[in-house]
Amino acid sequence: MKVIPIREAATPFALAAGSTHRSGEGAPLDQRGRSLRDLRISVTDRCNFRCIYCMPREVFGNDYPFLPREELLSFEEITRVARRAAALGVRKIRITGGEPLLRKDLERLIAMLAELDGVELTLTTNGVLLPKLARRLKEAGLHRVTVSLDALDDETFRRMNDADFPVSRVLEGIAAARDAGLGPIKVNMVVKRGTNDHGIEAMASHFRHSGHILRFIEFMDVGSSNGWKMDEVLPSRDVVARIDRLFPLEPVEPNYQGEVAARWRYRDGAGEIGVISSVTQAFCSSCTRLRLSTEGKLYTCLFAQQGHDLRALLRGGADDDHIDAAIAAVWQQRDDRYSEIRTAATPTARKIEMSYIGG
Ligand code: SAM
Ligand code: SF4
Ligand code: SF4
Repeated sequence: MKVIPIREAATPFALAAGSTHRSGEGAPLDQRGRSLRDLRISVTDRCNFRCIYCMPREVFGNDYPFLPREELLSFEEITRVARRAAALGVRKIRITGGEPLLRKDLERLIAMLAELDGVELTLTTNGVLLPKLARRLKEAGLHRVTVSLDALDDETFRRMNDADFPVSRVLEGIAAARDAGLGPIKVNMVVKRGTNDHGIEAMASHFRHSGHILRFIEFMDVGSSNGWKMDEVLPSRDVVARIDRLFPLEPVEPNYQGEVAARWRYRDGAGEIGVISSVTQAFCSSCTRLRLSTEGKLYTCLFAQQGHDLRALLRGGADDDHIDAAIAAVWQQRDDRYSEIRTAATPTARKIEMSYIGG
C-alpha cells in the first residue's frame, strides 16, 4: 500500500484572528476552558523501528519521503518555541518523534531546553540507543525517560515492532537510563488484542519490584496507515482485571488533575502500573497538550487533520510578542475532543501520522 505523506495540510497562520492574547497575560484557555500545560516536541519523523501500529513497513518502506533536513526546525528554533510556550503556561515538555534519539546531537537541544525554569523535561524512546546516550542526556539536563516496550519475547516483539533489535537491547536501554538517574522510568506497552496481549501478565511480573512504572496503552486509531479496528483494542479494564487475578491491585489517586494514566498499585507493595484508556475512556476534557511537529507546525490534537505553520513566522522575523500571540491564538481556537466523539466513521478519516506529530 502506498500512502501520501500526511503533513502538508497546514493552515496559513491565522495569527491573531480571534486572539485576544496580549503579551505578559499568561496562560490562554481553549474553547473548552482547558489551559496549555504540556508541549510535545517531535524532533524527527524517522525511526529505526517499524511498529505495525505506527509506521507499518508497507507504508513507511524504503521510498517513504521523509522530511529533508532543511525542513526540520533547528535546535534554536525549537528552543525559542519552547520558551514562548513556557511563558504561556507550559510546565512539561516531552521530546518525541519518530525516534528522538536518532536526531543528531540531541543532547545539545536538551541542554538548551534544560535552561527553561520550572519546566519538567522528559523524552519518549524505543530505548535501543539509550545504552549509548542515557548518561549524556542526563548530564545535559534531561529529567526522565519513558521507554516503549510491547513484549518480552523476541518473536512477539518483532511482530509488534518489526525492528532489527532483540528485546534484550531495550532492557539494556532501560537499565542504562536507570543507572544514569533518568527515573522514575515509565515503560509503555501498546496492547493489540490478538498480537501481544498474551504477554500482559509476563510484563507485569517482570516489572514488579523494579521501581519502573509499567503502563498499558490502548491501541489507537491515530494516523491513517495502521489499519485500526475496534476489535483489536483490549479495554484497559480487562488488562487491570487480568493482572489483578494474579497480583491483586488497588486504585491510586492521580498525581495531579488531568493525569492521562489511571494509576493502580500492587496490594503487596511491589510497585504500581498505569492504564491509558484513550479509546474506551476518553480524557479529552482535561487534555492540556500542544504538539510541535518536526517541521514546525502546531497541532492541538493527536488526531488532528491540520496544523498551523509556526515555522513561517519563526523564519520570517516575527518578534516574541508575535509568536506568543500566534501560539495563544491557536490554543484559544482549540475545540478538539476526538476521542470523546469517535464514531465508526472517524477512524478512516485522513489524519496526521503519529511518527510525524509525535506521540
Ligand atoms: N519512538 C518513540 C517510542 O516509540 O517510544 C517515541 C515516539 S512514539 C510515536 C510515542 C509513543 O506512541 C510510543 O509509546 C508508542 O508505543 C505510542 N504509539 C504509537 N502508535 C500508537 C498507536 N497506534 N496506539 C497507541 N499508542 C501508540
Ligand atoms: Fe518508531 Fe516509536 Fe513509532 Fe515504534 S512507536 S515506529 S518506535 S516512532
Ligand atoms: Fe487530547 Fe485530542 Fe487525545 Fe482528546 S483526542 S485527549 S483532545 S489529543
